[in-house]
Amino acid sequence: MLEASHHYFQKAAAALGLSEKIRDILLTPRRVVKVEVVTESDAGELLKHVGFRVQHNTARGPMKGGLRFHPAVDEDHATALANLMTWKTAVVDVPFGGAKGGISVDPAGLSTGELQTVTREFVSQIKEVIGPTIDIPAPDMNTNATIMGWIMDEYSKHYGFSPGVVTGKPLQLFGSPGREEATGRGVMYVLEEALKDQGRSMQGLRVALQGFGNVGSHAARLIAEQGAKIVAVADHLGGVSNPDGLDVSALFDHAREKRTVDGFVGGDSFAGEEVLTWDCDVLIPAALEDVITAENARDVRAGLVIEAANGPTTPEADEILLERGITVVPDILANAGGVTVSYFEWAQNIQQYQWELERVVGELEKIMRRSYAAVRDVGKEKQVDLRTAAFVLAIRRVGQAALARRHTREDIPLD
Ligand code: NAD
Repeated sequence: MLEASHHYFQKAAAALGLSEKIRDILLTPRRVVKVEVVTESDAGELLKHVGFRVQHNTARGPMKGGLRFHPAVDEDHATALANLMTWKTAVVDVPFGGAKGGISVDPAGLSTGELQTVTREFVSQIKEVIGPTIDIPAPDMNTNATIMGWIMDEYSKHYGFSPGVVTGKPLQLFGSPGREEATGRGVMYVLEEALKDQGRSMQGLRVALQGFGNVGSHAARLIAEQGAKIVAVADHLGGVSNPDGLDVSALFDHAREKRTVDGFVGGDSFAGEEVLTWDCDVLIPAALEDVITAENARDVRAGLVIEAANGPTTPEADEILLERGITVVPDILANAGGVTVSYFEWAQNIQQYQWELERVVGELEKIMRRSYAAVRDVGKEKQVDLRTAAFVLAIRRVGQAALARRHTREDIPLD
């Protein structure tokens, strides 16, 4: 993952003509925090976990990024994702830098009480380096609104009422309307823009998705509402397909109840991994990283890939898709709707003023469409693909903000 995010950065840095020294400055995290989280289990035994927070860049504002509770959380992984957050927030032009972190833990092995104690201990260990004007965590893999509420409460015990320290909170604790479906909604807007560029529309479009969780399910629902057919959906247990289009709202109810799309009666079942090479117009990976690889990229049949997941395409696969003329809308643009509405949540918290859903949706739409256009225009200017263009746009914005903060005589090609 770290290799992939650096690879895409390096490609854009080369298009800009940045020196090795500037690349190194832009890639190196500002601060890496590693903490020991010791708590007691329900049975009174000591539990020990390791937590991380990687804070990558502050040039454009306080840092922002998710907290993941997963055994695979480590420094390299958090560093890669923190980098991506810097570029993502810059692509959509929200006033944040990038961070990421989490605890190396399998939350399934903890009771709710233990999970709460571990979360609170982690916050108390990192409280000096987070805050509404420093670094604002958010939900990520295996963390949710409830956990964000505990984080706000723990931080507020030390620093007073601070809803702006974390986003993705429950609505009754100053979360934002529209946050839950924000990433899926953003995916729908960038898909619409990419289609417009190709002189096509959503009407009758055949779409396949990997993943039907928060991002995939809302994206599928909103895209189907625009007239597209969701012809295949897969998750960790299997896939369902219907060439006439799945009934997405029935699938939504099924998945909410069974926690999988598997077993849905409104379609034929298939082995989940086949979804990546499904016969469709648009493929939306919305589950895991590194799923489109050198092994399957030649078999992808969609002409357009919208990266709703973070890092779903390996660099080798990216080259193959490019060579084959398949358009890829990159993750740092396609899934930025979530961090955009997180920004709205933070802005509401800072102002202590709640927006209505219509305002959230309207502002999100404006930002996503505008960001797509900005990336496409850089692509035309530099004669590069959309991913490289998104990185060029982001590096320019971050680099220019960093330079405007200091006096240097170096001539750095950021225009
Ligand atoms: P989620 O946990 O709600 O859903 C994940 C989905 O992926 C589930 O349907 C799960 O069954 C499926 N999945 C897991 N393993 C799989 C496998 N081996 N094969 C096929 N499907 C599998 O997660 P989410 O919030 O929807 O996030 C999905 C992706 O989008 C992640 O890469 C995440 O980092 C990224 N993302 C999420 C947000 C957000 O706002 N939630 C924002 C930006 C990016």
